[in-house]
Amino acid sequence: MTARGRERRGRRLVSFLAPYLRPERPLIAGGFAAMLAEVAFRLLEPWPLKFVIDAVIAPGAAADPGIPALLVVCALGVVAAAALRALSSYLMTVCFSLAGTRAMNAVRGDVYAHTLRLPLRFHTGTRSGDLINRLVSDIGKLRDVAVTAAMPLIGNVVTLVAMLVVMLVLDWRLGLVVAAALPVFLLHSRRASRRITDAARVQRAREGELAGAAGESFGAIKVVQAYTLESELERDFARSNERELTEGVRATRLAAGLERWTDVLVGVATGAVLLVGGWSVLEGHLTPGELVVFVQYLKGAFKPMRDLAKYTGRIAKAAASGERIVDLVGTRSELGDLPGAHRMGRVEGALSFRRVSAAYGEGEPALHEIDLEIAPGERVALVGQSGSGKSTLAALLLRLHDPVAGSVRIDGRDLRAYTLASLRAGIAIVLQESVLFTGTIRDNIRMGRPDATDEHVEWAARVANVDEFAGRLPGGLDAVVGERGDTLSGGQRQRIAIARAVLRDARIVILDEATTGLDAASGAAVREALDRLSAGRTTLVVTHALDDALACDRVVVLDRGRVVEQGAPDELLARPGSRLSILNRREDARA
Ligand code: ADP
Ligand code: MG
Repeated sequence: MTARGRERRGRRLVSFLAPYLRPERPLIAGGFAAMLAEVAFRLLEPWPLKFVIDAVIAPGAAADPGIPALLVVCALGVVAAAALRALSSYLMTVCFSLAGTRAMNAVRGDVYAHTLRLPLRFHTGTRSGDLINRLVSDIGKLRDVAVTAAMPLIGNVVTLVAMLVVMLVLDWRLGLVVAAALPVFLLHSRRASRRITDAARVQRAREGELAGAAGESFGAIKVVQAYTLESELERDFARSNERELTEGVRATRLAAGLERWTDVLVGVATGAVLLVGGWSVLEGHLTPGELVVFVQYLKGAFKPMRDLAKYTGRIAKAAASGERIVDLVGTRSELGDLPGAHRMGRVEGALSFRRVSAAYGEGEPALHEIDLEIAPGERVALVGQSGSGKSTLAALLLRLHDPVAGSVRIDGRDLRAYTLASLRAGIAIVLQESVLFTGTIRDNIRMGRPDATDEHVEWAARVANVDEFAGRLPGGLDAVVGERGDTLSGGQRQRIAIARAVLRDARIVILDEATTGLDAASGAAVREALDRLSAGRTTLVVTHALDDALACDRVVVLDRGRVVEQGAPDELLARPGSRLSILNRREDARA
């Protein structure tokens, strides 16, 4: 990555995090106050030592009557400084941890909310495991480092500067020796930290890949086991795992190298101070006690420097995590509400597509200049081969994505004039594979309208033929379904999804292959429920079944993203060479 790119991302991370720290200002201010107190006590700590040493080695000290009192005062001073330093340090840690944890939890909540609202296009192109990893693990890393490294780091820098100033005042020659070590350290640690960040960035990306792969295989565990893909997946996983290890080791090795290198630098500086300092004492520039204070300070000043090295590694790794979060947050949803968008209230349900084109990424558009007018209450079958763009058309209505050209309207108004939430609330959709969430059947139905009463939910369950099978389950509507509803059959899941849609009481209904893949018996129950759901409403029926198409007012045939034929079912049936012939005839024809 270029230096400029790195800097830009760093700035973006800072400007992203700043608003979350703002409400924690009192805590952060308290933390800094405690930190300054801690530095002050750390600076005071060695001084009693100086007074004691200089007093006891003075000629005739043994006979001096003031010596015992001085010793007692100095001893108490050491104890007091240590105790106050401990207290300040404790307060500092508490303040900083509290502020950091609160801020990062807010960040996590917001990043989750943001990700949930990103357009379908984003989600289909990103593995959910990687997203989960960013949300849970990357934010966790950022928080730990902010609390345990970044804030103490500031304290260390303050300590270092303060001690350097005192050392320069005590003996400027000695001070310069120590000061000379600093630029060497800073230059080197900057370079090392950059390389650590690069390695950590690759490592985190690999971890994201791992989580994505694992998420995918666990999500499709039936297919994995049925096709005995375990060993193959295991091999793939092992390979990615190893690559992750390589980068992880590299980052850790670089960080450890920086720390050890600092140790050596500290040794060199200490040797130089002993040499120059011993000379200064002999020449009378410095008392022996002051030399001891100096060496103490040296240790004290270089400890922050060593910590800096230690923290640099961790901060560099966290920076890589932070970049992943900023990248996610920087992914803007182009589907937000336009200024001036208003609630879509009760609509008639007239739909119109005017020269609408839609595309996923580059390549061939999925829909080409579709023109389609659908009257309120009309029932329109959308047929065509797989991949002809039927679902894409339905998704446009829900604004899961926007057309690249043309406009989609409800009651003559462009969809973008409505708020997203009210638009989606006004449309009921039943898909081929209905997904249920872990919870009771009742909870799952209520998702159609969270404020529905129990009676209302039970009514929807009756309309959608859910009560028929729920009655046989222990607990009825309160029976718990497993993750994704895996404990129910396809037809049963479908009927729950229909009940959800019934509860919405929307004027516009989309049935996207809602009966595809069901057996005759459950197909009939689902069809009955669908008929009740869509009666008297504008309905788009995406189907491969001839009978379903024949039951509509109009049939629209799509081919490779274009409308190639449309008309009343009888008309199309009578037309020679009509594409209606691609539809399946069902054995369980409608009654
Ligand atoms: P249908 O529902 O008629 O089977 P779709 O509307 O799902 O067809 O797909 C229309 C075209 O768009 C197909 O060529 C398909 O490959 C493509 N497509 C559908 N969804 C996506 C997606 N999320 N990303 C990229 N291409 C897609
Ligand atoms: Mg489809």
